Order: sequence, then structure tokens, then C-alpha cells
Amino acid sequence: MAKFLIEYDRPNCIGCGVCAAVAPEFWEMNNDGKSDIKGGKSRQDGWQELEIGEKSLEANKNAAEGCPVNVIHLKNKETQEKII
Ligand code: SF4
Repeated sequence: MAKFLIEYDRPNCIGCGVCAAVAPEFWEMNNDGKSDIKGGKSRQDGWQELEIGEKSLEANKNAAEGCPVNVIHLKNKETQEKII
């Protein structure tokens, strides 16, 4: 089911709001000024992760491509191919 992994370098988010505007079903702005992955898992290093399926890829790819500081990354979990 979960075929792709979002890896989000949250410490380096500049809080521009693009991801939440482009893909509001997956991204939201937090009170601290940075965004969060809805339902995402926080890592010890401050990054967040979420496993997603094929149908959630496009919206998150758009969010990642719109991020001005490129802190949203996507990879294929099966092949380990880095998508963005
Ligand atoms: S688009 Fe990037 S910099 Fe802007 S809020 Fe989202 S993760 Fe942060």
C-alpha cells in the first residue's frame, strides 16, 4: 500500500505556506510558523515522515516542487529511487 515516503526537513522550513496552500489535505501550518505533515511522524532529528500511496503522490510532488527551500523530499520505498 504505502509505496512512497515523504521526508520533510522541518528545521529548515521557512514557513512560507506554499505546501499547505498547494496540498491542504496533507500539509498544514503550525502555530510555530512552520508546516506539518498531517498525520506525519516526528523524528528525533526534527524531520517528519509519512508513508503514502500512489494516489497521494501527485499532490505531495506539487508541494515539494513548490517549496522554495526544497525541504520536502519524496522517495519510492520499493526502489529507493529519489523522486524529489
Ligand atoms: S513550502 Fe517549504 S518552506 Fe514553505 S511552509 Fe512548506 S515546507 Fe515550509
